[in-house]
Amino acid sequence: MTNKYMYFIANWKMYGELNSIKSLNKVIKFSKLSKKYNFKIIYCPPYTLLNSFSKKLKNTNIHIGGQNCHYYERSGSFTGSINSKMLKDIGAKYVILGHSENRILGENNLLINKKIKSSIKNGLKIIFCIGETLSNKKNNITRKILMNQISNGLKGIKKLNDVLVAYEPVWSIGSGIVPSNHDLENNINFIKNSLKQKFKLKVPKVLYGGSVNLQNIVNLIKIDAVDGFLIGGASQDSNKFIDIVKKTFI
Ligand code: PEP
Repeated sequence: MTNKYMYFIANWKMYGELNSIKSLNKVIKFSKLSKKYNFKIIYCPPYTLLNSFSKKLKNTNIHIGGQNCHYYERSGSFTGSINSKMLKDIGAKYVILGHSENRILGENNLLINKKIKSSIKNGLKIIFCIGETLSNKKNNITRKILMNQISNGLKGIKKLNDVLVAYEPVWSIGSGIVPSNHDLENNINFIKNSLKQKFKLKVPKVLYGGSVNLQNIVNLIKIDAVDGFLIGGASQDSNKFIDIVKKTFI
């Protein structure tokens, strides 16, 4: 149980169709408790649902975000892409950048850095994902990898208060395997200290992401350093998502 301000970000990945919007009704009702219990819910649906989510969640406590965007900050000939200005225009306040499922497809720190810069310029807040692979972990280079992602991903960015870091060990995403609280506390504190020392950020916010579910949340919430959770699979079921949030403050 906690009374700290916590973020709960629902990453729907490539899931959801128009009729999924109905499932938001209970979350909207539940989110009325967010001021009393100090939490914020953010939905990141696929692009095809952003407009419907935006309309449905207007005048609620729930915000929406994109799952990625192009680095180019204006319109251009980039077939299949959308930019941060378009996300802002549709009502998004956030965008997930650096997700490992996009890093695997070739996104590197330099490209992610360009995306962060243009998204901040266009008024979005960033959910910046970082995390080591299983082989990084086995080779004991987790801190080196995290430092590299932080230093290069955030290079030259001034408005760092607009950045929430999501620590997502790649081996934990969708696998059902969650790091020990001890490792999470250490790695989250390492990320926070790096942000304080390297970027002079006074109050860094770091979330955890990777196989969060109804069972493990009870334990994960005991981690002092964590400021919230990025939730994939379990966020697609409204009842499960609500129960996860509830378990953090009840
Ligand atoms: C994610 O996609 O960021 C994620 C954490 O997924 P899951 O909760 O399904 O592991």
